[in-house]
Amino acid sequence: MPDFANKVAVVTGGGRGIGQEIARRFAAGGAKVAVLSRSESSCAAAAAEINAAYPGSATAHAVDVADHDAVQAVAKSIIEDLGTVNILVNNAGITRDGLLMRMKEEDWDAVVDTNLKGAFNTVKAFLRPLMKAEDARIIQITSVIGLIGNAGQANYAASKAGLVGFTKSVARELAGRAVTCNAVAPGFITTDMTDELPEAVKESIIARIPLGTLGETRDIADLVAFLASPAARYITGQVIAVDGGMTM
Ligand code: NDP
Repeated sequence: MPDFANKVAVVTGGGRGIGQEIARRFAAGGAKVAVLSRSESSCAAAAAEINAAYPGSATAHAVDVADHDAVQAVAKSIIEDLGTVNILVNNAGITRDGLLMRMKEEDWDAVVDTNLKGAFNTVKAFLRPLMKAEDARIIQITSVIGLIGNAGQANYAASKAGLVGFTKSVARELAGRAVTCNAVAPGFITTDMTDELPEAVKESIIARIPLGTLGETRDIADLVAFLASPAARYITGQVIAVDGGMTM
């Protein structure tokens, strides 16, 4: 278990699923964690659950990551309260699936604004403390869909592929400050997002996974914790798939 004592981590989409597991992992390692999600109820419940196990470690912040000004305001209050930010995980994400023929402009905008612009907004908002912190880390949660595409997910695939280019550019810009920036590309992980899929679709997905099963949130949190740890100091600008072999 990496030691995150005296570190401050910000996790977007930390209210549920993969983000909640990542936030829990940082708190378990001794970090203070700011849990961000769209709804107040979600981040408050996640922070309460984390604080029950690791008292005083988590704070909850409801914000729409797609809203540039709102993210700036939340970041200001987090930086004032917690003093610094060492680790930023851009995990908030949504899907609005549909074949192109039927995809509405608002479905495209909602997905790209949340998944891609949301990461731009948070990196901008936390840039100063990250550049000042020693060995800061930025980690994007992209998706294998951003690497291989998927019929019915043009908006989602574009947003996640965009995150890959964003990650590499940020990694190059901030390398001189010893800030690393990497992306984790999950395959299919059991969360609310994948629970929505019909059973037949899940079965066809599992048939395409060499390891023969969906992943779990801890599979992603383990890699994120490693990338955030001092042991990963020489890894930057990378996209690492955690997908049971799907994209090998
Ligand atoms: P969930 O749907 O379980 O949780 C998504 C989280 O993101 C929620 O906490 C939600 O807030 C938050 N969120 C959504 N939109 C916004 C927004 N506009 N502003 C702030 N927070 C927002 O998702 P997963 O845990 O499954 O996925 C997490 C990430 O991993 C996503 O980026 C997803 O694309 C990616 N991923 C997931 C895979 C999977 O198989 N599950 C596979 C590949 C990638 P609230 O709780 O308030 O709704």
